[in-house]
Amino acid sequence: MGQGQWTEVDAFLGSLLVGEDEVLAGVTTAAQKAGLPPISISPAQGKLLYLLAKTLGAKRILEIGTLGGYSAIWMARALPSDGHLISLEYSPRHAEVASGNVARAGLVGTVEIRVGAAAETLPKLAQEGVGPFDMVFIDADKGGYPRYLDWALEMTRPGSLIIADNVVRGGAVADGLSRDPNVQGVRSYLEKVAANPKLEGTVMQTVGVKGYDGLSIARVLD
Ligand code: SAM
Repeated sequence: MGQGQWTEVDAFLGSLLVGEDEVLAGVTTAAQKAGLPPISISPAQGKLLYLLAKTLGAKRILEIGTLGGYSAIWMARALPSDGHLISLEYSPRHAEVASGNVARAGLVGTVEIRVGAAAETLPKLAQEGVGPFDMVFIDADKGGYPRYLDWALEMTRPGSLIIADNVVRGGAVADGLSRDPNVQGVRSYLEKVAANPKLEGTVMQTVGVKGYDGLSIARVLD
């Protein structure tokens, strides 16, 4: 059992249940053609985010880390016609590719991409009072995760979900002595989730086309 099997099973489940359509497949192709790294979430993970947003009845979603807009489009499709998704992206090039993809997905009025380091765009968002967000998806630089959690807490409400990707890192998360700043970033993020009395959370370890990793899901308590 290993990567080959995980990929095969993801392909089977994807064709059976996930229903990635031509638009979403086109997003991946456009990102590849533009030379973006192949690090977006998988179709099954996209469907999971979509289902969570639908279940929440989310109207406002915040994403940190847009890349080519793949996850943003999945989540935005769960929003009602007056819903809004703001996605924060450091790279102007990634944001440009994502904007094209969002347009092709027919979601220009729903998805807003803001360019800049999240450490700068998050305080601006909070200042504008655009929240509260019903769901926050954190999927950018892992070293920033602990700070992004603080900002997510500023801009959510009781019942909101705060989700963070890539928190298991092939199992390296369990190594407290790791010198990898990405590992230290996600460990510190999870420690903060665990220590915060306003949050209840868990992590699902995941295998699939993206390898072995995990998704943290935390709910802001009432
Ligand atoms: N969520 C995307 C998806 O699944 O389609 C994938 C996001 S990718 C893993 C991470 C993205 O975060 C990259 O596009 C990267 O440029 C962006 N990023 C990295 N550091 C950032 C920062 N400090 N602020 C905002 N975005 C950042």
